[in-house]
Order: sequence, then C-alpha cells, then structure tokens
Amino acid sequence: MLCIDEQALASWAEGRLSKREAATLLLHLERCDDCRLAADLLEQQQRVNTLCGDLVDASAA
Ligand SMILES: [Zn+2]
Repeated sequence: MLCIDEQALASWAEGRLSKREAATLLLHLERCDDCRLAADLLEQQQRVNTLCGDLVDASAA
C-alpha cells in the first residue's frame, strides 16, 4: 500500500483536497496507523494555527 505523502496530508488538513482525493486519503487513513497518526498531528497543528490566526485577528481588530 502506498502511503500518503506529507504534501497531500497538509493539503487535506487545510481542506484543499477535492472530494475524491479526500475520500481516497481517508480510506487509507482507516487502514494505516502511521498515516492516521501523522494526520492527527497535522489536524491538531492546523487547529492551533487557526486558533492563533483568530487571536491575531481579534487583537488586530
Ligand atoms: Zn500510510
């Protein structure tokens, strides 16, 4: 099984994948612990980034 590369995972975390690409990726995540772990980390990172972005926006307003 081919694993998901970091670039694709990052795109997914940012919501930049097409529906079909995301579905393929999620299917792989269901079966691959390594990629699921990486995706979890990325998602958390993404959430932190979003949160920080909101904070910056709030303080700039
Ligand atoms: Zn994998």
